[in-house]
Amino acid sequence: MYRGKNITKIRELLDKKVITKEEVFEKATSLAHYFQDEYNSFVTILDKVKIKDSDSLLSGIPYALKDNFSTRGILTTASSNILKDYVPVYDATVYKKLKKAGATLVGKTVLDELAMGGTGTTAHTGVVRNPWDKERMIGGSSAGSAACVALGIVPFAIGSDTGDSVRKPAGFGGIVGFKPTYGRISRYGLFAFASSLDHVAICSRNVRDAALVTDILKGQDPLDMVTLKSENVKYVDTLNDDIKGKKLFYIKEVCGKDFYKDTNDLVLKKVITTFHDMLDKCRDKGFIIEEVSIDMDLLTALYPAYMCISCAEATSNNANLTGIQFGPRGVGNTIEEIIFNARTEGFSELIKRRFVLGSYILQKENQEKLYLNACRVRRLIVDKITELFEEYDGMIAPCSGGVAPTFDSRSEKLSARYLILENHMVMGNFGGFPSITIPYTMIDKLPVGLNITGRVKDDALILNIAQKIEELTGLKDIYAKVGEIDV
Ligand code: GLN
Repeated sequence: MYRGKNITKIRELLDKKVITKEEVFEKATSLAHYFQDEYNSFVTILDKVKIKDSDSLLSGIPYALKDNFSTRGILTTASSNILKDYVPVYDATVYKKLKKAGATLVGKTVLDELAMGGTGTTAHTGVVRNPWDKERMIGGSSAGSAACVALGIVPFAIGSDTGDSVRKPAGFGGIVGFKPTYGRISRYGLFAFASSLDHVAICSRNVRDAALVTDILKGQDPLDMVTLKSENVKYVDTLNDDIKGKKLFYIKEVCGKDFYKDTNDLVLKKVITTFHDMLDKCRDKGFIIEEVSIDMDLLTALYPAYMCISCAEATSNNANLTGIQFGPRGVGNTIEEIIFNARTEGFSELIKRRFVLGSYILQKENQEKLYLNACRVRRLIVDKITELFEEYDGMIAPCSGGVAPTFDSRSEKLSARYLILENHMVMGNFGGFPSITIPYTMIDKLPVGLNITGRVKDDALILNIAQKIEELTGLKDIYAKVGEIDV
């Protein structure tokens, strides 16, 4: 009766007094506990909440929050050993707003350590499993947020997206992942990874719910200087606007049919053909969709540029994790020894590798060649996409070249083509463009997502386009119906 319901349906049950807010919360937490051993979505499950009275649409709606958002009095680890006992003394703006709206926090979700990574396998509390197939990853870094929505535990969850960290796991989890324009939602209280790329993003089971939650979270915040002024529009109000004549492009070198005609990867082939079938359906509905070509050198530089910029910023942002103010104190006789030992013990290999890269990139003698060149590449890409947005309303592509990978799969396919298809969504972070993933097909019973990205501040239009495409997929409000529980 509760599981798998979207926000509107739960709202209805509450308003008709079929169920109380307390009962809804209880059902959500019992599901969270039931699935925890098998799927590991949560670092912390909360068993009690004070439910605030509010006339907001989110009043009494349960949700989950990624464990890199500060919550006063509630353990917040960023899934890292270096913060394994950290209890913050202040609330993130997002959490504050949801509390004020009366939404009920069910738990803090597992991420790839410090939000770096895309597998959901590097948290200090273990790997997150994909609800559609336990032997597969859900992807990351917002792995737990995507998994608990895909399991039907909560109708929405909050994540963060620096490269694709909500939109990628959303694709592998068969749910919606929406990253609004840079600055649309305050990041105050979100642990900084790469500040010029970090966004708050939303996991939900349909486009309307993503719009509804964004409406509540958006707005200027003096505590995050990049936040945008509210435009006094509601994104839920324009979801049904007519899209006839709206123009989309896809990049040939990302997902062109001919570009992939020689591939012998059968799943990839299916992703590309089903994607183009979906484009035809969109055309029938009134969209104009065209192929454009972008310099391959520029696209090949996407991922390395992302790594240079994000590792440099991450190294600097995380320099405060010394074991002095937060987390377990290191042992040693000098301050250097104490910090050295805390960081050696506290970070996994993957994080250390990124900090070594970041430090190297920021070294005075390397800055011009690595960091500043990466920034130039970013500018060239953003300029190119912005120029295309003068003619087109959005860019469309599959989220990845396949279904969710198995845990033992090792990617040896480091070809330029593969790296482009797997990482093109970082363009959304480079430009701060609004960008949304929705499920569009199932391959071997596993969901695959498509992504739509649009002009800065065009959040309403991107949600409108996504909702219209969602109607064509037949995959709205899906969740993985695993487990023997019926609440
Ligand atoms: N997978 C990307 C990375 O490893 C994205 C991470 C993110 O968006 N937080 O950096």
